[in-house]
Amino acid sequence: CGIVGYVGTRGSVEVLLGGLKRLEYRGYDSAGVAVVGDDGALATRKRAGKLGMLTDDLAAVPIADGQTGIGHTRWATHGGPTDGNAHPHLGDGGRLALIHNGIIENFFELKTELLERGHAFTSETDTEVAALLVGDAYRESGDLTTAMLATVQRLEGAFTLVAVHADQPHVVVGARRNSPLVVGLGDGENFLGSDVAAFVEYTHRAMEIGQDQVVTIRPDRVEVVDFGGAPVTPSTFEVDWDA
Ligand code: GLU
Repeated sequence: CGIVGYVGTRGSVEVLLGGLKRLEYRGYDSAGVAVVGDDGALATRKRAGKLGMLTDDLAAVPIADGQTGIGHTRWATHGGPTDGNAHPHLGDGGRLALIHNGIIENFFELKTELLERGHAFTSETDTEVAALLVGDAYRESGDLTTAMLATVQRLEGAFTLVAVHADQPHVVVGARRNSPLVVGLGDGENFLGSDVAAFVEYTHRAMEIGQDQVVTIRPDRVEVVDFGGAPVTPSTFEVDWDA
């Protein structure tokens, strides 16, 4: 439902929770974050219920903060609103975290295939198939953008996907089809959001990601390609909004 991504120099937990707070108006039933530290560790925390549950939980027992992270508020479509079904979902043996807005229509076929390949599922969501597919593709290519491009070829339906991998500590990759994704352009930092509310506190410079495109953000650059891997030059705009 709500998506935030961050890469830069700030501690991402605060950026992610702030972004999710500003996306609360959309409604949701669970919330979660994943953060990659410079030491190459991936930490996740997710909770059913209001964002305050997650915030209190993180205050009581913090996770290792890092300068790269993703956050999600979920509106359940596949699987009830439980801690386990909340996003992020993991792939590549817990080295990759992924969040998703929308519905993956062919998730049942993909789940059957992944079970045959020996994967175990920890949730009832359609999202977890995407996390496992990107994880497997990452094992083959060693590159998160390449892994995302390979995965979106297999998915049907409506999705915004955003992922991080512990082996690529300063990279966040997003993809979208029939579901929105916007980039916030900062100075030495960049943001992703399901809408500009996710990052409007930090920057008013934004870039719209088009249908069937994959975006890779790093602290100092943003690259966009279409689902075929061809470079795209997206249009930028100024957000007309008082944060
Ligand atoms: N279909 C996914 C789920 O049920 C994502 C829902 C959403 O857009 O928040 O977990």
